[in-house]
Amino acid sequence: MFNFYAGPAGLPRPVADRIQRELSDFQGTGMSIMEISHRAPQVEWLLADTAARTQRLLRLDESYEVLLLQGGGSMQFAMVPMNFSAPGEPVDYIDTGYWAGRSIKDPRLLGRDVALAGSSADRGYTYVPPPESIRVRPNARYLHLVTNNTVEGTQFHRPPRAAVPIIADMSSDLMSDVFDPDAYHLAYAHAQKNIGIAGVTLVVVRRSMLERIEAELPAVLDYRVHSAHRSNFHTPPTFAIYVSWLMLGWLADEIGGLAAMGAINRRKAQILYDYLDGSSCYRAVAEPASRSLTNVVFTLPTPELTRRFLDEAEDAGFVGLAGHRTVGGCRASLFNGVTVESVRRLVDFMHDFERGVSSLSPTASRRLDTGERSPR
Ligand code: PMP
Repeated sequence: MFNFYAGPAGLPRPVADRIQRELSDFQGTGMSIMEISHRAPQVEWLLADTAARTQRLLRLDESYEVLLLQGGGSMQFAMVPMNFSAPGEPVDYIDTGYWAGRSIKDPRLLGRDVALAGSSADRGYTYVPPPESIRVRPNARYLHLVTNNTVEGTQFHRPPRAAVPIIADMSSDLMSDVFDPDAYHLAYAHAQKNIGIAGVTLVVVRRSMLERIEAELPAVLDYRVHSAHRSNFHTPPTFAIYVSWLMLGWLADEIGGLAAMGAINRRKAQILYDYLDGSSCYRAVAEPASRSLTNVVFTLPTPELTRRFLDEAEDAGFVGLAGHRTVGGCRASLFNGVTVESVRRLVDFMHDFERGVSSLSPTASRRLDTGERSPR
């Protein structure tokens, strides 16, 4: 089985194996991590060590804090405006597609004065606006962006700069490559793509941001409360955190850190994009300078061929290749758990499919011969 799902995504084999081995006995307690109180020293230690591993991998200094929260990326869409702005205040967002659009809905609903500092809607979200084109209002409380657009397969390869704090949804690329702590005041990522399983969301935030929060908020939505309780304000998702702790250990000890992980991830993306660029059957959708390393979105000449491709791929053991329901087509997600070898195997399969297709129906082969494309 080759897992290319966009999330939840596959875990590295050594991590999955270790979960299985330790399931009924966490560190000699004779209990599963799922059965231990969140006030027990083992869990307190697990929370602290998960934060410490995050801190080391991302090279965060003491000015940063790591929080382990619930509610996924979606809850951050609400917490960010609630914590860092008041109704009527200006907040700036970059609109780069589906998830960016979702991140913009909540501040609007909450009555913030939302402006778009940049957008790639004009070319169907096939690129990310160049950092130097971003226009941020000087009085904006913050600038929010999605660094990797999971649905459209685009990614910022250079973070924008702004005179206001930058807040990033990195749900699909945190821990996939080196992190630049200077670029952001707050970054968040749910775990189920590159860092484990659904249930926990990593938030890295500068302490100076926590100090500027003024709002009266329900406790569970208040970053300061989670910080004061060291991510143990209410019952944390201990099993999900344990899986992230294993993933972070695997990244550090078996992969050799985020620079090494980034090199592997770039290699995987290159193998697939190189193949797509040389093919007359498939076409990569994102503009080259904005291509995502973690989500490779591509199309085939017709909807019928796309259907056939996805069906045959699944029969051959390649799962999760259908594009997001809002854009269709195909998407191969190459998160940390996907190996170079499985990308090679996918390319071999795509090549065989392409060869089979060229000896096929007159319409399909004419389209292939002429390079004609079906509309996306
Ligand atoms: N942000 C991005 C970039 C995503 O890809 C997703 C989901 N795939 C979300 C946010 C939403 O995350 P969740 O389902 O954890 O709320």
